Amino acid sequence: MTKNSTKLVPNNLEAMRKFSEIYAKRTGTFFCSDISVTAVVIEGLAKHKDNYGAPLCPCRHYQNKNKEVASAYWNCPCVPMRERKECHCMLFLSETSEFAGSAQTIEEEALLKSIE
Ligand code: SF4
Repeated sequence: MTKNSTKLVPNNLEAMRKFSEIYAKRTGTFFCSDISVTAVVIEGLAKHKDNYGAPLCPCRHYQNKNKEVASAYWNCPCVPMRERKECHCMLFLSETSEFAGSAQTIEEEALLKSIE
């Protein structure tokens, strides 16, 4: 982790920001109209990648995160997302979702500001 002005920023934050943008474009999905939702999920993915070596879904409870990472089912993009475009974290939303915004990008600055 690297030090931001007020808190520790995951080392993989930029990697997960880029991944999220590329994956949204590839799947034709959109970020939430409330960009703080997007930011918190990206931060959670980055923390898991820092700590466990894989971007385990941050919106679930796990008994054993190392085991979950090894099984890969909930490593982002998880199986429900890959198979049915279901993202319960609301990171990748279909354009028909009432929560979807119009963005498939999130600026680094906006991301950092949202997770301060
Ligand atoms: Fe990623 Fe799946 Fe979690 Fe959405 S629900 S953030 S696609 S792991």
